[in-house]
Formats: sequence, C-alpha cells, structure tokens
Amino acid sequence: MLERYDVVIVGAGIAGASLAFFLVERGLRVIVLERGTPASGGTGLSAAIVRQHYSTRLMARLALRSVRLFQSAQQRLGRDAGYRAVGYYFLSPPDALARTLVNLQMQREIGINTTLIGPADFAARLPWLNADGVAGAAFEPESGFADPVTATNAFLDSAVERGANVRTRCPVRSLLREGHRITGVETDHDAIVADWTVNAAGPWSALLAASAGLPMTMRTVREQDTVWEVRPDRPMPHQSVSNAVDAIYIRPLGERRFVVGRGFPKVYTDVDPYNFKQTVDDDFVHDIEERMTLRLPGFISARLVHSYAALYDVTADWYPYVGPRKGIVGYADFCGGSGHGFKIAPAIAEELAGWIAEGKVAEDFCNLSHDRVADGALFIQSYGGNRG
Ligand SMILES: Cc1cc2nc3c(=O)[nH]c(=O)nc-3n(C[C@H](O)[C@H](O)[C@H](O)COP(=O)(O)OP(=O)(O)OC[C@H]3O[C@@H](n4cnc5c(N)ncnc54)[C@H](O)[C@@H]3O)c2cc1C
Repeated sequence: MLERYDVVIVGAGIAGASLAFFLVERGLRVIVLERGTPASGGTGLSAAIVRQHYSTRLMARLALRSVRLFQSAQQRLGRDAGYRAVGYYFLSPPDALARTLVNLQMQREIGINTTLIGPADFAARLPWLNADGVAGAAFEPESGFADPVTATNAFLDSAVERGANVRTRCPVRSLLREGHRITGVETDHDAIVADWTVNAAGPWSALLAASAGLPMTMRTVREQDTVWEVRPDRPMPHQSVSNAVDAIYIRPLGERRFVVGRGFPKVYTDVDPYNFKQTVDDDFVHDIEERMTLRLPGFISARLVHSYAALYDVTADWYPYVGPRKGIVGYADFCGGSGHGFKIAPAIAEELAGWIAEGKVAEDFCNLSHDRVADGALFIQSYGGNRG
C-alpha cells in the first residue's frame, strides 16, 4: 500500500519545519522527510540574525511578518521559538548612505520600526564603535536574533501536535515524475505519493530537483563562522550588527560571547555540498580578528572559542526560489535562502501554505518562483549579495 499525503516536504530545516506548521494549521495531511535530524543542514549553524533592513518591499514585508510570527510564537506555536529582540544595527558606509535612506523610507512606509542614528549621536548611542568611515547606523529595536534550532523545533513540534508526520534519518533518493506531474518521492524504503511535493532541501535542493529533470540555478558556497569570547568589562554591542563598512556581521551568543562572520562582498567558494571542508581557514580567523579589532576596540584580545564552516545555497539573484513552476504540476520550491533565509522563512512558509492550500498568492510573492530565471525577471536589490 502506498502512503498518501496532501503534501510531502523534503527537508526539516527552518523552511520545511515552518511550512509543515502552516499547512497542518490549514487542515492538510503533511509528511516531512529529513535525511538527518531537524536543523542538521544550514539552519543549525546559522547566525540567525533577524533584521528587517532590506531594499525591496517584498523582502522587507516578509522580514516584518517573520518578526511578528517570532514574537507571537508562544501564543501561535504554544512554545518559545528562541527569538531574542535585542535590537539590530545596520552600519552604512558613506557611499551607501543615500541607498540606506531610501530603504529606510520604504521600510517605515510598510510599518517597520527603524530609525537612522547619525554620527553626532554615535558616542552616546554606540559607545563600542570606532566610527571612522561609518556614515550612519539604521537601528531596529524589534529585531535581534533567534536560536535557529529552537525555532525549527518549535515549528516542527507544533506541526506534529496538529497531526504532521515527521520522519528523520530518511533520505529522499528522488522525486517521482509522471509526465508534467511530480507525484511524490522515493525513499530508501518506499515511495510516498502526494498531491504536492515541496523541495525544502536547502543546499541539496538542486540535486533533488535534478532527480526529476527539473533545472535549478544554484551555487553551494562555503560560509565560515567564528565564536569569540570577549574579555570582561569591554564595551561591546548587545545587539546584532550588520557592518557593511567592513563586511562583517556579529551577533551576541550568551555572556561575553559573539558569533562573527564575513558579510558581502567577499570571495564565495563553490563546493560539493556532500563533501566540503567543515573547519575554518587560519587566514579567515586572522582577517576577522583584524576587522573586528579595528571597528570594535573592545574586541581586543578576544579568545576564539569555536569555529565552523557550513553552506549557503545561493540563487541567481540571492533571493529564494519559492512556489510552483510553469508547466509542472504538484511541485513547489522552497529553497535558496542565499545566506539570509532564516529570518524570512516563517513568513514565506505562511504565504506558500496559502498558495498550496487555497491557490491564493500575492502578486509580488509569485515573483519568487524559479520561473524568474528563465523569464529573465531576476530581482534587483540595492546593496548586493545576501544584504538583500
Ligand atoms: C553560517 C551561516 C550563517 C547564516 N546566517 C544567517 C543570518 O544571520 N540570518 C539569516 O536570516 N540567515 C542566515 N543564514 C541562512 C539561513 O540559515 C538559511 O538560509 C536557512 O537556515 C536555510 O534553511 P532551509 O530549511 O532552507 O535549509 P537547511 O537548513 O539546509 O535544511 C535543508 C534540510 O534538508 C535536508 N535534506 C537535504 N537533502 C535531503 C534529501 N534528499 N532527503 C531528505 N532530507 C534532505 C537536510 O539534511 C537539511 O536538514 C546563514 C546560513 C549559514 C550557513
């Protein structure tokens, strides 16, 4: 007897987990198949900075919606999703300030709580900052970060409580295809059929799509992160910070500890998602130390306590691929987070669930379909890369 569901989701990162929740909330029968354990892909190692500073209305509104979903997790999911609204700064260099101001205007228009702090207020508001070369700091009091594993489990556990089936240590070998219809998946043990199959396999999505002859323009690149412990009584930010001046991001991780990584622009190295170096390079650590010490003098003599490398699944325009494709029935993408996909995943999941369950979708959201690659309709954003 074949197992039958309304929706089979491949992958239990933040994308698959949050989608499962919003689908079962709408009454659909859902199964999530995960090769490893929940959040064992990019999600588990994500810096999980939650910001709303985006340059397109679509991404900004999705980020705002995700913040609202994270804030209401206790009521909606019945548990904490690990969200900490410690605040967020976007440090803008002089050559980007005009774009930052345009973006802030758009963000405020759609209801994001954000303000610009100018150099005159740096000493009072950002006492940890060496302000040389910083033209302005956009501040979002409601943003911050989440514990990505707690967030994934919160959505998944809540989905299971409402009837979702989750199978871990269950690799999907291929999608099942009959003509123009994707009919389900083949696992090591059996076939599972469903009206809809959702590819939420993160950096492995292109390989899964290829198993049914579906093209996917995606790079898998290595992303290194470091965790540092700062000496006692040194001035450091309590907020998450995207530092576009020195291409660095930083977020607090408990008492005196910080996750620090390099942001766009930098060299992105393509790797085999099944076989890549999961430790950091020495020159990367030195580079981080130099950039951090220059910008945040309190960082001097910080101790490296942990480091690792994970994967970004980077799309043609650094925006995710979401939703069905023209000419293919019963299939939807939900992948290509491109190094900023954690925060927007819950909001995307909510809208994608509506698209799948009721066929209703906002016009701007439709544009996230992978069809945009063939149509030459890629998104244009003002900062580049995963700054969105
Ligand atoms: C180091 C790092 C820092 C980041 N920092 C941020 C940040 O600060 N803010 C932010 O918003 N985003 C950030 N991101 C990006 C964000 O974390 C990702 O976009 C997001 O977590 C991706 O979630 P996902 O569910 O799409 O993919 P994943 O978490 O990769 O999940 C995919 C899942 O699919 C499973 N899978 C794959 N193939 C199969 C198969 N064939 N069968 C069954 N299961 C399969 C995998 O095991 C995996 O668990 C960062 C990412 C990294 C790596």
